[in-house]
Amino acid sequence: MMWRLFFILVLSFSQWGAANCKVCTNFNTDIAEDKRKAAAAPHHEHPADIHSLDEFNWAKMKRKLERFKVPDHFLKQVPLHNVRLDPKGLHGRAQKMTLDYLLMLDVDRLVWSFRKTASLRTRGKPYGGWEKPEEELRGHYVGHYLSATALLWASTHDQRIQDKMSKVVNALHECQQKLGSGYLSAFPSEQFDRVEALKDCWAPYYTIHKIMAGLLDQYKYAGNQKALKMLTWMVEYFYKRVQNVISKHSIERHHLMLAEEHGGMNDLLYRLYNVTGDPKHFLLGRLFDKPCFLGALALQEDELSGYHSNTHIPIVIGAQMRYELTGDPLYEAIGTYFMDIVNSSHSYATGGTSVREAWSDPKRLATTLETQNEETCTTYNMLKVSGNLFRWSKEMAYADYYERALTNGILSIQKGPGVYIYFFPLGRGVSKAISHWGWGKPFDAFWCCYGTASETFSKLGDSIYFEEEGKIPTLYITQFISSSLVWESGNAEIHQIAHPVFSWDPIFRVEFSFPVKGTANEATLNIRLPFWSSSVGAKAEFNAQNLPLPPPGSFLSVTKKWNAGDKLTLELPINLRLEHIQDDRPDFASVQAILFGPYVLAGHSNGDWDIQTKKYSSTKSLSEWITPIPQTYNSLLVSFSQAIRNSTFALSKHGDDHHHHETMISMLNYPQPGTNGSVNATFRLIIDDPNFKGFSSVKDVIGKSVALEPFDLPGMAVAHQGPGKNLTVVRRNSETSKCSSTFRLVAGLDGKKNSVSLEADTSKGCFVVTSGAKTSVKLNRSKSATAPCVRLSCNFKLKKSKKKASFLLSKGISQYDPISFVAKGATRSFLLQPIHTIRDQHYTIYFNITA
Ligand SMILES: [Zn+2]
Repeated sequence: MMWRLFFILVLSFSQWGAANCKVCTNFNTDIAEDKRKAAAAPHHEHPADIHSLDEFNWAKMKRKLERFKVPDHFLKQVPLHNVRLDPKGLHGRAQKMTLDYLLMLDVDRLVWSFRKTASLRTRGKPYGGWEKPEEELRGHYVGHYLSATALLWASTHDQRIQDKMSKVVNALHECQQKLGSGYLSAFPSEQFDRVEALKDCWAPYYTIHKIMAGLLDQYKYAGNQKALKMLTWMVEYFYKRVQNVISKHSIERHHLMLAEEHGGMNDLLYRLYNVTGDPKHFLLGRLFDKPCFLGALALQEDELSGYHSNTHIPIVIGAQMRYELTGDPLYEAIGTYFMDIVNSSHSYATGGTSVREAWSDPKRLATTLETQNEETCTTYNMLKVSGNLFRWSKEMAYADYYERALTNGILSIQKGPGVYIYFFPLGRGVSKAISHWGWGKPFDAFWCCYGTASETFSKLGDSIYFEEEGKIPTLYITQFISSSLVWESGNAEIHQIAHPVFSWDPIFRVEFSFPVKGTANEATLNIRLPFWSSSVGAKAEFNAQNLPLPPPGSFLSVTKKWNAGDKLTLELPINLRLEHIQDDRPDFASVQAILFGPYVLAGHSNGDWDIQTKKYSSTKSLSEWITPIPQTYNSLLVSFSQAIRNSTFALSKHGDDHHHHETMISMLNYPQPGTNGSVNATFRLIIDDPNFKGFSSVKDVIGKSVALEPFDLPGMAVAHQGPGKNLTVVRRNSETSKCSSTFRLVAGLDGKKNSVSLEADTSKGCFVVTSGAKTSVKLNRSKSATAPCVRLSCNFKLKKSKKKASFLLSKGISQYDPISFVAKGATRSFLLQPIHTIRDQHYTIYFNITA
């Protein structure tokens, strides 16, 4: 979405800006007539076959549509009202965070610019970010808010959300009444005059689409009739507007206007037609089908490179809706082909697509890894594309894609209520906190991605269960998300518990039960067996009896009359695997991501990415060089802190992890968990004592000989280099007489409770101290600070020196995620954990893995 702003700015100042994006004109000449005809046969009409005069002729359109049979074999999404996420589960917690955010937002502030535009009295202060009164896109988030709250209402029946969303609808109703024409927006209609005159204007139809979709969702999920009336009046207004442009200018003018981002206008209008049956709604939808783009897809040509991704994915969703309503197989083919090329040639391991908001060349992704990858909106929209394809085809690959994008692309982008990211960085040593926008603020961002994030977390329950109509009620269970379902056609209630996964016990366990009510008659459960599981050791049990299991990648199908109390459990071993980046150039054959089941594993790294596997017998046996962090290791993580003047500092490593001789130890400001600082200030105690059980209080470790392994540098240790010298980090077991990593933890020299001192094992009476000297510390790429050095000292006559040698010992500020591995690298090892559990820490997703 931001791209347009950038484009306008660049265009205003230079000529080369136009080269940054690809625009198709929608003139019939874009796609040669013979090509159109070849693609259209036997489907009669190619998207680029536009006849100005016919565009408003319903009788003609109807005759064309009557050639197709409307499909009736699709799976049905179960109503969102019937699905409840387990509040303790990963997805339930993510949904609750968004619920908290939507409740934080204030109705008067949300509708401020709508009231202003309608010349009604405003109340309170307008919001910031893209909702600021001077932003041309203002009001777009309010549309998303209407959709998100409607979805959340269906997902939770939380009365507070219903109160808020009804108030927003009522306020907008007042604005529309006051304006009197059907027009409803937070900006004046003058923006449409500009876009119709092909003058610069930031995507007014994009915003209108969000408001319209919000009103439709309010009707669809919350039964709000007023919202539907408001919507049809709005559509009436825009129908006239578009008709006017075409009769006054030409159909080409209308299509040129579509070069500007316009969201999923076609999708919305087709969905509305499905509700109202009003031909105008279909005809107007057809006019937003962007023929030059859908036309290329109809030719089965991958022309995506250069196009702005989030402008175009919603148009494909509209084409999919057109197929659902009409049965026109060309639009089925368009949706299928589009998903195919995105999934095979334009997608990262996270399921995301796009760099700097646009598609790059197919299978050339290795050189696109940076801080501005996969705009959140694109992942939200690709979930819709793949979800539709699954309903049509029941093909497992679409459910696999859905899981991949949801688990990695969506769960990764929320840090707290109203804290989302715009871009998802995928480069080497990147951080979610340091991309073009970083993490947004709850009241001052309201980017497009805030809208799609709000929606996507509100509807996490919408793609777990699908129904198939037939003699025997059938339920497809495609996602493993702890939840419950009131299954109407099965006349039953079903519970799903997806147990948390651990790297040290790589079995995925899920159970399905009928705790209250069984099915009235025979019913079928089709449960997805994911491709990432292994058939060796896989187990399915029904009420403690073994069931035969088909191979991973198929559905386990069980038909029976289910009784209350019945339970079906699955135990599926999870594989570690490597995935090549989608790049067919031999130079990049070594660029690979590491995955554990559905989880993309990120390595803690400031840019290192080299892994060499030649030491190991085969790259296929990943377990030789990727090993799980044992369950007991969290109790060995510690941090050392010290009060210096009025602040608290933590013993931290910093410098160059790659050239570890340059890694230093200093006292840095006490960090928050989830930050780079917390990674640098956490160490694992390595204690050579078989009886040692773990650290629960300071006295457990007093008197022990220890090594301190930096949290993100497995296999390395903090070392002293003799009295008066700074502490450093070395490879363990590479110590010399001058450089030792063994310390004895003794009671703090200052005599305080929970205080410890670190005595050098090889130089009795010498302790680790915070020295008066300072060193420069690079905090990130642009920020440096000075920090007290940490040294070994043997002089403790003064009380002051004893204080400097005493540290408060506490539990590690960082903790290992339950899914944590160590990957042995070429010059260092990497600590891996699922990308969705990473907050601000620096990470690398793709590694250079060579034999
Ligand atoms: Zn966005």
